[in-house]
Amino acid sequence: MSLSMFADVWVYLLPLLGFWAVYVGSRARVQKKNLAALNESIETGMTEPASLHPVINTNRCLGCGSCVAACPEQAGHNVLGLIAGKSTLVGPSFCIGHGACAAVCPQDAITLVFGTAKRGVDIPQVKPDFESNVPGLFIAGELGGMGLIRNAIVQGCQALDSIRKLDGIGKGDGLDLVIVGAGPAGFAASLGALQHKLRCVTVEQDSLGGTVANFPRGKLVMTAPVDIPLLGKVNFRETTKEILIEFWQAAEKKTGLKINYRERVEKIDKTAEGFRVKTDRQTYETRAVLLSLGRRGTPRKLGVPGEEQTKVVYKLIDPQEYRGKKVLVVGGGDSALEAATSIADEPGTTVAISYRSDAFSRAKQKNRQRIEETSEEGRLQVLLSSTVKKISTDKVEINQGDLTLTLENDAVIVCAGGILPTPFLRDCGILVETKHGTP
Ligand SMILES: Cc1cc2nc3c(=O)[nH]c(=O)nc-3n(C[C@H](O)[C@H](O)[C@H](O)COP(=O)(O)OP(=O)(O)OC[C@H]3O[C@@H](n4cnc5c(N)ncnc54)[C@H](O)[C@@H]3O)c2cc1C
Ligand code: SF4
Repeated sequence: MSLSMFADVWVYLLPLLGFWAVYVGSRARVQKKNLAALNESIETGMTEPASLHPVINTNRCLGCGSCVAACPEQAGHNVLGLIAGKSTLVGPSFCIGHGACAAVCPQDAITLVFGTAKRGVDIPQVKPDFESNVPGLFIAGELGGMGLIRNAIVQGCQALDSIRKLDGIGKGDGLDLVIVGAGPAGFAASLGALQHKLRCVTVEQDSLGGTVANFPRGKLVMTAPVDIPLLGKVNFRETTKEILIEFWQAAEKKTGLKINYRERVEKIDKTAEGFRVKTDRQTYETRAVLLSLGRRGTPRKLGVPGEEQTKVVYKLIDPQEYRGKKVLVVGGGDSALEAATSIADEPGTTVAISYRSDAFSRAKQKNRQRIEETSEEGRLQVLLSSTVKKISTDKVEINQGDLTLTLENDAVIVCAGGILPTPFLRDCGILVETKHGTP
């Protein structure tokens, strides 16, 4: 090879080598970031996806990264990432079951499944028309296994269409329908019931919006256009939690829809004509029931006087809300410890945490350490072996040993866990299957 030919080859080869070096360098950086995300998930115990999630067949995966790019949650967290050239679920607990990864995979390497070997997910038996195995008792939305806002809305509307066709609707003295839950599924079904003039009551234990109302402040919400009864086509694709909730509240006002908030359904019994639905306030006789309960369950209550006040909540949504306030957090798990320390970080707060045991042994080491540091810095009062006795408008009474402490108080956050819907479903006679990693 002559010298000039050799030089010509290098003219082409050098830029290629340059590109290759940049590519290898950036791949190594991305892999390092993905490994760090995976290790953090393992160290913090966040290894169990909530519901529907991808399982990747590594023999089929080519590492093209299409699934990583397609995941709508990837903007906020590392959900999927390439490690050793294969797609990996690096942030399992951030996966909310969009399923976009499986749809784009050119290799058919992704299967969407419910539950894992370690954590089963209970899925009730539901027919294509959304009726459960109990005639007249319907299920829509995430409770039936299919998550996401748009799916819940569509299912709420379709379930309502099936209910309208039941014998006995529009006849007799009782109600036609009781809808349980005012998340996206229950809200859409309630608007459908209003449109078709069904004698319907919607009961919601919390506030409008269901799980969406509990998203963190400013959470980016990915959804898709959908038809909603009385509202027509709604074109949201990418929005925020606040805009979506404001839109639903405006829709509620505009249509005159009435929802019974802060009322919880406790029991449903079959009757000759339909069902008797018992709530913590009253009893309804109805031909049909639509369960649109979601999967979060019902927060465990303290059962003390004053708990019904609106200043008592069961989840921290935004620590900034509590700036300048006197707050009591109740509980000893990770969510309680995280709530207490994040509120204590806000300016002007006075925070106490009350827990019935003598140590926070259930919580992660990282959170226990934060509690210790915040308490040592004098920003948090820790009340172990204590129980809340009474909540009044501006005070709380707490028993600790023989002492009764009275703390000034503006807000109480109870993080005492939740009661999952499965026992309730079984009590209604609904068949439930526990899935351990099956579609
Ligand atoms: C962190 C996070 C982020 C998410 N992000 C997105 C996103 O960007 N896009 C998207 O499409 N989806 C997202 N989702 C999923 C979406 O929020 C749910 O799929 C959707 O809210 C399900 O709607 P639903 O009506 O079936 O149930 P839910 O929204 O859970 O509503 C159920 C309602 O029933 C009420 N209820 C329960 N039991 C009772 C009872 N016994 N009596 C009275 N009321 C009761 C509850 O209080 C609740 O309000 C996300 C979920 C999470 C957890
Ligand atoms: S899209 Fe399929 S082939 Fe590509 S990285 Fe993801 S799982 Fe692998």
